[in-house]
Amino acid sequence: MQHTWSRHLRYTLAGLTGSTLAGLYLGYPAYGFTAGLVFYLVWTLHQTRRLAQWLADPETADAPPQSLGIWGDVFENLHKLNQSYQQTWSQLRARIGRIQESTNAMHDGVILTDAQGAMEWWNDSAGHLLGFRRNTDLGQYIYNLIRTPSFKAYFDTKNYHDPLELYSPAKPHIRLQVQISLFGDDDRLIVAKDVTRLHQLEQMRQDFVSNVSHEMRTPLTVISGYLETLVDNADDLPAKWRRAINTMASQAFRMESLVTDLILLSRIETGDQALSDAPTDVNRLVQQICQDARTLSGESHHEITFDAAGRYLLNGDENQLRSAFSNLVFNAVKYTPAQGRITVSWVTDSNGASLSVKDTGAGIDQVHIPRLTERFYRADPSRHKDTGGTGLGLAIVKHVLINHDGSLEILSKPGKGSEFICHFPAERLAVETAR
Ligand code: ADP
Repeated sequence: MQHTWSRHLRYTLAGLTGSTLAGLYLGYPAYGFTAGLVFYLVWTLHQTRRLAQWLADPETADAPPQSLGIWGDVFENLHKLNQSYQQTWSQLRARIGRIQESTNAMHDGVILTDAQGAMEWWNDSAGHLLGFRRNTDLGQYIYNLIRTPSFKAYFDTKNYHDPLELYSPAKPHIRLQVQISLFGDDDRLIVAKDVTRLHQLEQMRQDFVSNVSHEMRTPLTVISGYLETLVDNADDLPAKWRRAINTMASQAFRMESLVTDLILLSRIETGDQALSDAPTDVNRLVQQICQDARTLSGESHHEITFDAAGRYLLNGDENQLRSAFSNLVFNAVKYTPAQGRITVSWVTDSNGASLSVKDTGAGIDQVHIPRLTERFYRADPSRHKDTGGTGLGLAIVKHVLINHDGSLEILSKPGKGSEFICHFPAERLAVETAR
């Protein structure tokens, strides 16, 4: 380009010199120079007009105007640039077309929105699962089309670690699992999976457990009632029957506890009962639980203390909270040797609340901690025989906390004791009214 430019400059100067010399020959060098300049100006304007016409008319994009010198180079270079843009553009179009084709072949719905939730694109499955229509819904805010309040809350949180489950707004029999990912400038990639079948299976499992537990309750009550009568009158029984009757009575009692816990767990899990959201005085509730724990400890003489700091109440279901907290405190009694220390504390501040149950028991190996809240999971199966636990206590705690937007933290070291902490978010707190 540098070479072309200096050649152009040379030709221009030569032309001007020529026209000036011609003017000098005729006795008017200034007119000669001016005529050279005017010619140059007219030529440049003419080339500029050709350039503008060429650029404005896409029909002529394939054939650049022919010209001499620097203008010829400008036309040629622009033409090359244009061709390479065209090539890149058609490659990109082909690639986008392929991505769209492959995402349309997916069974999962895929939706792209901007940071505010305006819908930019979605695949065919999203249209089918969620009932979006291209001609009317493009550019609409997604939470105006999926009107479930939990979806808007999920969209706004920007915390998409866990997916959200909801029913399709267009086809209420379809259960969807929605997962959002952030990309670009807070834009959202939303994937919606059809989990109707899984949801039905889970529902069937819950119904089965709940029905079986209810069906077992009546015969068990009858059996343990008779066994209790027999135990009360054990003195009248032949000696060889006494041991058998006592064992049967204690096993029947265990089964009754198991059935009670199973029924409680399925109620908490399925949300069968309407959840109360009244302000609950956790302070008073935990004091009662500690009192019961002292009775349970009995001869073991555990040192059970309760500290409370902060003056907030907790919005929640008192019965469910009692089940969760008593499971933790009673576990501490069960798994801490006699005379051990159990410290319960309830702390509230504007950032949230936490109930901690700390003991000086045997502790739990790290490998077990992630699985402790599974039904019937035991860290030490040999030890639980003496405790008479059902194996459902921590599963109940977990589900109660889910129902209260909380989470369970477990800290433990073998030989050093354990600490179970229930965390609740600030939105669950209520200001204590004067008592
Ligand atoms: P269980 O009825 O067996 O106590 P849970 O669900 O309440 O069932 O607890 C599950 C397991 O977690 C227990 O079997 C026990 O191994 C362990 N665990 C629970 N609490 C404690 C604790 N405070 N100290 C040590 N281990 C505990």
